[in-house]
Amino acid sequence: MAGVLVYSTKQGLALELISAARKIDETVWAVSINDDNLAQALAAAGARVFKISNPDLTVADTGAVAAAIKQVLDKVNTDVVLLSSDRRGKELAGRLAQVIGAGCLTDVTAINVEGSKIECQRNALGGATIATQYIEGPKVIAIRPRAYEAAGAGNGSVEELAVEIKGAAIKVIDFKPKAADTVNIEAAEILVAVGQGLSDEAKLTDIQDLAARLGGEVACSKPLATDKKWLSEERIIGLSGKKCKPQLALLLGISGQVQFTVGIRDARVIAAINTDENAAINYMADYIMQADLHDVIKELNEKL
Ligand SMILES: Cc1cc2nc3c(=O)[nH]c(=O)nc-3n(C[C@H](O)[C@H](O)[C@H](O)COP(=O)(O)OP(=O)(O)OC[C@H]3O[C@@H](n4cnc5c(N)ncnc54)[C@H](O)[C@@H]3O)c2cc1C
Repeated sequence: MAGVLVYSTKQGLALELISAARKIDETVWAVSINDDNLAQALAAAGARVFKISNPDLTVADTGAVAAAIKQVLDKVNTDVVLLSSDRRGKELAGRLAQVIGAGCLTDVTAINVEGSKIECQRNALGGATIATQYIEGPKVIAIRPRAYEAAGAGNGSVEELAVEIKGAAIKVIDFKPKAADTVNIEAAEILVAVGQGLSDEAKLTDIQDLAARLGGEVACSKPLATDKKWLSEERIIGLSGKKCKPQLALLLGISGQVQFTVGIRDARVIAAINTDENAAINYMADYIMQADLHDVIKELNEKL
């Protein structure tokens, strides 16, 4: 093993991967595909970047990207690859592992080197526990967004690399912004999350007012988006939603089932408002208020 190779199309996530890679080895290789800004940013954070410029290679074609990364791996002779565990990173992880004959772990929340083993922590049993797992032989590990801080300044380099891409399967014709809600609750420092304790949809405006006053975003439990359809699925926290790490999470009328809490337990401060003094969320929250959320929202909006 000589160093660690990292790859993500998103600059913020790629910088987080460099920090994660340094837990394993000081030598960090990175790949940028048709993106000079990304190559420069990763080099400025200390990575030795292979910049691939090839109009036939599109990042949406994960099969072709896996073939390109294999060619980089052949050059640097490492068998550890870190990817971001976002939607595209997870798809690539499986394909790349198959191409290079590696084992694969996704949704990894932390890594720890124990002798020759790279131990990976992942949520298990629906988030009720954390499993520590490792891979024998070549490894493809996808790290969950925001598990690590972005790498700071370093002294890296950029080297052009030509790769051979045979018969690309996907041709991108056009890029269009998503028509639906495009909020990114994972990036928010303050989240005002609402659950089924909210009495009716019209009251959502009070929640939105409060979030705006606090400079945060509105998020929700799953039933509010999938059953009631009061908010978009982009705002769901939890196992089937987003894993968030805000400075403050204000949880309103949310019972605290494990499928929800797995997405918010890394918040710095959790304040829960619930009428039920025995709500499960109270066992996790830093601050508990046993009260009707509608009264609390009204008063907070008046005071702020
Ligand atoms: C495979 C699977 C995946 C899932 N994934 C997710 C997921 O990603 N995210 C998720 O959220 N859920 C998920 N769920 C659903 C999850 O199990 C819970 O059903 C859900 O989180 C409950 O949402 P809730 O807390 O809003 O509602 P409830 O459990 O109904 O809780 C409502 C809470 O509001 C309180 N309340 C009522 N009135 C008031 C009031 N006036 N003021 C204050 N408090 C009040 C009640 O005391 C109660 O605690 C998943 C389930 C499964 C099976």
